[in-house]
Amino acid sequence: MPTMRTECLIDGEWVATRPDATAIAVEDPATGELVAEVPDCTGGEIDRALDAAAAALPGWRSTAAHARAAVVSRIGFLLRRDANRLATLMTREQGKPVAEAMGEVAYAAGFFENAAAVAPALLDGPLRESDLPGGKRLRVLAQGTGVTAAITPWNFPLAMIARKLAPALAAGCTQVVKPDERTPLCAIALAELAVEAGAPRGVVQVITCDPARFAERVFGHASTRLVSFTGSTAVGRLLISHSARRVIRLGLELGGLAPFIVLEDADLDLAVEQCAASKFRNAGQTCICANRILVHHRLHDDFADRLTAAATSLRVGHGLTPGVQVGPLIDDGAMARVEAQVADAIARGATITTGGHRVRVDGCRDRFYAPTVLKGVPTAADCFAEETFGPVAPIASFGSEDEAIDIANGTPYGLAAYVFTGDPSRADQLARRLEAGVIGVNDGLPSSAVAPFGGVKQSGWGREGGPEGILEYCDLRMVSIGTAPRGSPRE
Ligand code: NAD
Repeated sequence: MPTMRTECLIDGEWVATRPDATAIAVEDPATGELVAEVPDCTGGEIDRALDAAAAALPGWRSTAAHARAAVVSRIGFLLRRDANRLATLMTREQGKPVAEAMGEVAYAAGFFENAAAVAPALLDGPLRESDLPGGKRLRVLAQGTGVTAAITPWNFPLAMIARKLAPALAAGCTQVVKPDERTPLCAIALAELAVEAGAPRGVVQVITCDPARFAERVFGHASTRLVSFTGSTAVGRLLISHSARRVIRLGLELGGLAPFIVLEDADLDLAVEQCAASKFRNAGQTCICANRILVHHRLHDDFADRLTAAATSLRVGHGLTPGVQVGPLIDDGAMARVEAQVADAIARGATITTGGHRVRVDGCRDRFYAPTVLKGVPTAADCFAEETFGPVAPIASFGSEDEAIDIANGTPYGLAAYVFTGDPSRADQLARRLEAGVIGVNDGLPSSAVAPFGGVKQSGWGREGGPEGILEYCDLRMVSIGTAPRGSPRE
């Protein structure tokens, strides 16, 4: 086990669990082994972090954008330097195979690299300047919005923080991070690297605690300007109601229910390969994974056979075991939801072609579910209405393109959507008709640190990544200049 910190970072100090207080236990989801205990911070400690973030703001905001970018860039470098250690830590607390964890560390580093590269051009001078009628001149300025907080989920314990922390720091904001209580160790390790990279006291802080307590303090604190959340739509809705009290800006990256459409002219090998990659990565516990697989009726059986072969070949086990491709589910509730959805699909007439059962793994507890393919799934099944968050691939067939689009768009969610076709102009039209913020055309893994990621409808507000992700952490102000000050002629 790599060395790890287990304290919170508050106002430049590492704060351990108080002797008289209960701690939060972090378990290996595969074995149930206690990996670490982290503090359950009090309301007073959360306030102290927010006060420190407010105190650090003027200094950090007035640091030149290039100097801030240097610190942000160094965090990216340190993540890559420590990739092996961080990936092992991630697998211990979250369960994903270590090769995937390595990929997540690189993905997280990419957000710091993107922010360092893009932010100075947006923040150093005016965003744009132009002449207005009547001899006036318009100047648009971007400035970091102030004290921010991040609330992040367990499924990507490092990358979901990186998507928030990197743009916040580059824009001149300070941030208090609250990771999911099941996966706080990567967040603490990231805070440690931020300090090593030169982030001043109070600029980056990490708190572990009861989530409702964190929300109450953050939304109640006079300095908070923005809360960025990644997680379920249900909790997102709750945070919207909290934010109404003091009109605090929200970034919301919420749940998905991605359609994966395979048209009759698709390259079937490519579609199957990308579907397997999208669906079974992280044991199906990703917000953009293929959740509703829609295959043209002429290809349905062939596609199901090939996806069955791909799913059957995957190796299930502890994420630290070499060669394992599918790790455990995060908790017993996740197992119950997956089993209920499979039972519902079968009861409605679907056929299991592989999987559909738990898998015993030596030395581990009962948290593994076999990669599963269901064919002939009616679109009224529960797995077409709610996120599965498990390694289950339900396939339904469609007749026409319009029918596929109607099914794809017929949900309150709109995070990711996929379309596989051999016709580029058809792909272009479909990309415009699908109601989603992220569209993969012949691509099952569309995430990138340089692209604006986010949802439409009940999948969220705002974007993370690319220059758009930096502007989410900025206030824009327009300056209208009527006459040039005496002695400073307009250029
Ligand atoms: P969750 O909403 O239960 O938890 C997410 C975070 O919210 C955690 O930090 C948790 O501690 C906190 N939280 C829980 N209850 C809270 C409360 N009452 N007040 C304040 N904070 C609270 O979600 P989850 O189960 O951890 O994650 C899975 C969900 O996240 C899925 O719906 C998935 O689609 C979504 N997700 C979305 C994206 C995206 O980019 N859109 C990325 C990853 C995950």
